[in-house]
Amino acid sequence: MPELPEVETVRRRLLPHVEGRQIVAADVRDARLVGRDDPRRVEERLTGRTIVSLDRRGKYLLLRLDGGETLVSHLRMTGNWLVPTGDEPPHARAVLTLSEGGTVVYADARRFGTWDLLTDAEADAYLAARLGPEPIAESFDAGVLLAAFAGRTAPVKALVLDQRVLAGVGNIYADEALHRACIHPDQPAGRLRHAQLVGLAESLRFVLEEGIRQQGASIRDFRDPGGGYGSMQESFRVYGRDGEPCPACGTVIIKTRCAGRGTHICPACQPKPRRRGMRRGPVTLKPL
Ligand SMILES: [Zn+2]
Repeated sequence: MPELPEVETVRRRLLPHVEGRQIVAADVRDARLVGRDDPRRVEERLTGRTIVSLDRRGKYLLLRLDGGETLVSHLRMTGNWLVPTGDEPPHARAVLTLSEGGTVVYADARRFGTWDLLTDAEADAYLAARLGPEPIAESFDAGVLLAAFAGRTAPVKALVLDQRVLAGVGNIYADEALHRACIHPDQPAGRLRHAQLVGLAESLRFVLEEGIRQQGASIRDFRDPGGGYGSMQESFRVYGRDGEPCPACGTVIIKTRCAGRGTHICPACQPKPRRRGMRRGPVTLKPL
């Protein structure tokens, strides 16, 4: 699934093709894309509108329209926005014909992606209910993690993946950030030390910004709107590298499971958390 860097890559590549353009015609070919909405009604509402800007929040792309509406697009597994240069791309689920002769296609092989056409206020509420802070925002730091993790005994990886805790991080960038921060993914989130929170906040920002710089990771299906490939997969330290040596210490990387997801760790850099009972020990000293 595309994560924050891939969705941001799509946003940046798509932006110059849509910003300020009017939607001359909308063709929603797959009713499943718009869920309970009537595809014909969505087409009517989109037609004639101008795309004022293209924003991103977490893994959502937000087409801001004039008239106070927002098209909230989630790519899920295989969705993508494409700017076709010749033949129409395969798996086209919707096509927007734009002013100045432009066309953008929403394609999705597995059809899990969604479009929600909402008023701006509805869109704000929709996103606020689903998304925590942006880990690449200026204000993101260890204090944000401290507040989010306080009192939580869930594994840190489970919380990093929870979009309501942090927006935009998925399995790949979670594994990469936890390895850089030398934190075992099973570590209870609320018991991380301050230095670990500082390291994790810095690592999350680093891997996500690096992912954006490298225009995403092209594993499985991800391509940018021009059909290009990102190169972040070449910079992975642990993700998909089980059996290879850890770039930091040379220990063999293993694949395990955490939070229900395949998880890549270096067992030396990311030592397993001690069980709480072990620290207590059986010894109690009583005064004679
Ligand atoms: Zn290591």
